[in-house]
Amino acid sequence: MTEKTLHMTIVDQILKGNVRTTARVLRDIDDQIPSARSILKELYPHTGRAHIIGLTGSPGVGKSSLVDQLTLRIRKEGLTVGILAVDPTSPFSGGAILGDRIRMQRHFLDPGVFIRSLATRGHFGGLTRSTNDMITVLDAMGKDIILVETVGVGQDEVEIAQSAHTTLLVTIPGMGDEIQAIKAGIMEIGNIFVVNKADREGGRKTLQELRNLIELGMRRREETGWEPLILETEAVKGRGIEELYQGIRRHREYLMTNDHGQWDSALAKRARTHFIEVLKDELLETILHRMASRGHSLETQIEKVKNKEADPYSLVQEILARELR
Ligand code: GDP
Repeated sequence: MTEKTLHMTIVDQILKGNVRTTARVLRDIDDQIPSARSILKELYPHTGRAHIIGLTGSPGVGKSSLVDQLTLRIRKEGLTVGILAVDPTSPFSGGAILGDRIRMQRHFLDPGVFIRSLATRGHFGGLTRSTNDMITVLDAMGKDIILVETVGVGQDEVEIAQSAHTTLLVTIPGMGDEIQAIKAGIMEIGNIFVVNKADREGGRKTLQELRNLIELGMRRREETGWEPLILETEAVKGRGIEELYQGIRRHREYLMTNDHGQWDSALAKRARTHFIEVLKDELLETILHRMASRGHSLETQIEKVKNKEADPYSLVQEILARELR
């Protein structure tokens, strides 16, 4: 079989929803195996159907529990679900071995649910890119809804959450200080705010704080016509999940109604992040490759900067001028 026909067979299998082939290609993406790129090229035209939902929040607020419950609810509609759990703070990688994914165990045998964890950052911090590449695969695979769970700590995670169509910011009662500390930038990307663990003290205060902050932030929002929802849930008992699901549907309907070109701008936002990430990644790879072929290692450059033999600005300019000629 030639490489081309092999690729087409793989692409075909993914489009048919084959779980094993999909898992293999996701692993190749994680390992940055070049052939994954050819597969992604073929898959891309088949994407755009899925509703991508991002959930972000600090560790322990209940994101996995919410994803688990939402998945149950979505499956009741007969819709299929792809789950990407992004946790760069975890030392593990490669799918179902993560301890906290045990919460999702009941979905492992359901052919309508595909679960994958991402813990690695790749070699140069391409977490956003890997996540977007994996979304491409799950979308092409035919999943109706893709839930992307990220630990809301760094720039990458915020970027990932932002590239979803609908973004859920998850918090819990008594995290008022944290809410205050959340930068306006993060508040602005939330379409739905979830106060989970509503069984705990201080829920009302947290709700009020959120309302105040959202009101403040509203003026800076690009969105028109969507007032962020603030919902309470108790994920472990499944309380508030129906309202959350309906809220997500409402946001999707709002996007699709397209009075203000919202769907289009959501797509443009995703396309922008994805394109820029691929550009950055490929540029870096090309330059490092060219440097290496001249016997210039990355480590040598880093050493120079460390020893102040060169400043990073001049050195990069010099390298770019040489390698991109
Ligand atoms: P994640 O790190 O954000 O994914 O959080 P998890 O879903 O792993 O949940 C962290 C812990 O909080 C687990 O022990 C859950 O059982 C618990 N938990 C999740 N939702 C609730 C809730 O609504 N109420 C209470 N009391 N505990 C919850």
